[in-house]
Amino acid sequence: MARAPFVIAGTEIRPGGRATVEIPVAKLYTHTPLHLPVEVIHGRRDGPVLMVCAAIHGDEINGVEIIRRVLRNSALRHLRGTLVAVPIVNIFGFIQRTRYLPDRRDLNRCFPGSETGSLGGRIAYLLRSQVMEHVTHIIDLHTGAIHRFNLPQIRAELKNEDTIRMAEAFGAPIILNANLRDGSLRAYADSLNIPVVTYEGGEALRFDPVVIGSGVKGVLRVMRSLEMVPAKKGPKAPKKRSETAATSTWVRADMDGIMRPVARLGQRVRQGQILAMIADPFGETETAILAPCSGIVICVNNLPLVNEGEAIYHVARFEELAEAEKAMDYFRSSYESDVAEDVLPAHPWDETQR
Ligand SMILES: [Zn+2]
Repeated sequence: MARAPFVIAGTEIRPGGRATVEIPVAKLYTHTPLHLPVEVIHGRRDGPVLMVCAAIHGDEINGVEIIRRVLRNSALRHLRGTLVAVPIVNIFGFIQRTRYLPDRRDLNRCFPGSETGSLGGRIAYLLRSQVMEHVTHIIDLHTGAIHRFNLPQIRAELKNEDTIRMAEAFGAPIILNANLRDGSLRAYADSLNIPVVTYEGGEALRFDPVVIGSGVKGVLRVMRSLEMVPAKKGPKAPKKRSETAATSTWVRADMDGIMRPVARLGQRVRQGQILAMIADPFGETETAILAPCSGIVICVNNLPLVNEGEAIYHVARFEELAEAEKAMDYFRSSYESDVAEDVLPAHPWDETQR
């Protein structure tokens, strides 16, 4: 029996078909209508329905590029199931180059939203009623906040097997067991029993080739593990599996001043080791910021001008720290060759990054 068409916002996509659907969201003050663009690839054969979305925080743009590259991957010619890509969830924030909505709300705290609520509530309602409630799996792509660079990592609440399988299949070096936040897309997906993982990597308003490359591979690896793309077509599982961090700690500046980073992203640090120095402009007073625990650095603040209390380093803790270090070494070595051979030549902008 032929597979039924996939219906989204009143548009039917036949098996083997591909379509971009523009779901009306709201109007700008000028009365120019805004749409949520969604691309659907509906495979000929039955299988999971995977939503991959990005830029729910409007300035987190690495995920937009990850989706663009996934959509052009030849493995999708053999798709089983359905891929629903939503590259820019927070259209307003994306246009304004900001994390938030025009009313300064965080769209990722507006779920489940409502049809008659504020702008954020309405966008959340639209996404969940038109897209999320019709899918079986979700990957939510994020980037670090402005001036903060996140190590490529998966965040998920590791309590059900399907979620754990997706988190491990992605192949990021590190998985952070992260509780669900009220109002987030992840919490709402969880309430529907949809397995969901978040990929975090890089810094707001910047492209990073390693973060993007690892994200593209990760999405395709998850699709491979869900048997949406044939085992021979998608990227292979990494030789070293991801290490899971049970907890993590933010390290804050204990003085206002100018910060010089010492520890690098992805580095293994020991408790008491110097992470950074903060000094006044003349260097008369200076303080060393020490690691409060041993672990792997998973986020670094890139803006040297800091105020007391500001989060400047994020350190993940592991039961098997040596294994986490090995996962980092493997990740680094696999991307050295990727960046050189695969990502760089085709994309001139990579040469200007970092
Ligand atoms: Zn985010």
